[in-house]
Amino acid sequence: MADYSLEDKTLWLFDVDNTLILDVDHPTVFSDALNLWNRLLELEKTNAILTNVGRLSSRQIYNAVSGAGYSVDLDKTFSAGAAAAAYIANQQTGARCFVIGEGGAQEDFIVKGLDVTNNPPVDFVAIGADRGMTFAELNFATKMVKDGAGLICISGSRDYPGIYLGSEDVYIGERSIVAAIEDATGVEAVIVGKPLPEIFHATVELLGFSITDSVMVGDNPQSDIAGGRAAGMMTILVDRGKENIVPFDSGDLDKTPHMHVKSLDEIVKLF
Ligand SMILES: [Mg+2]
Repeated sequence: MADYSLEDKTLWLFDVDNTLILDVDHPTVFSDALNLWNRLLELEKTNAILTNVGRLSSRQIYNAVSGAGYSVDLDKTFSAGAAAAAYIANQQTGARCFVIGEGGAQEDFIVKGLDVTNNPPVDFVAIGADRGMTFAELNFATKMVKDGAGLICISGSRDYPGIYLGSEDVYIGERSIVAAIEDATGVEAVIVGKPLPEIFHATVELLGFSITDSVMVGDNPQSDIAGGRAAGMMTILVDRGKENIVPFDSGDLDKTPHMHVKSLDEIVKLF
C-alpha cells in the first residue's frame, strides 16, 4: 500500500451506513471503524460525519451514531437533508419549501431557517425517502413543480435496506420517487448529496479545514469515493461486501480510491 502521509490529515470525514454502523435502522457497530475513530481522537484529529441518509435529520443520525459508541459532536454531523437545506438557503433565504422525508429532513430545513409548508405558494419541493408518503403528498409536490417550484432530490438512492413498522425489507428511495415527479412535469431535479463535490467542499469549509487536510472514509465507490475524489480529497474505501452497497449515480466521476482496505484496522496500524 502506498504511503499517503496520513499523519498530515487533520479532518476525517466518515460515511455512516455500512461504514461506521450497519445502517441507521440497524445500528450495529463495525469494530474496525470504532478502533480507527478512537485512534484518530487520541491523535487529536477531527472526526466528522457526512451521510447520504435523507430521511433522518442530522440530530437523528447523531443519536444513532453516538448511541452505537462513537464520540461525535452534533455540529460535526451532516445529513443529506442538511446539505439540501443549505443549498436552498444559499439560493433563497427563508424559501417556502414542501418537504417529503419522514420528518428528519423537515427538521434540518427548519434549523436552516427555511419555511416548511404544506400550502402554496412553494419555492422548492424537496424529496427524501419517505415510507409513509401518501398519494396526496406526491400529487401536491408534482403540482407545485408544475407551477414553477424548484425540484430537489435529497440524496439519490433508488432503494435501500431498512426496517419500517417492524418490517425488514428493501424500500424505494428518493431517486425513484423524484423520477415520478420528473416524468409528470418534465422538470429535472437537482440531486443534493454525495457524490456532488460541492457537498464535500461545503462540509470541509464549514468545519474550518481545507480539502488537502481532509480524508473521506466510506464503503461506497459511487458516493463516498467518487465525490471525495472529485472534490480533491484523499479517499479510503473499506470493503463491506458488495450486497450492502446502495447504488447512486456517479456518472463519469473517477471511483478509484486512493487507498482500499479490507478492514479499517489496516489504517490504525499505519499510525
Ligand atoms: Mg455507506
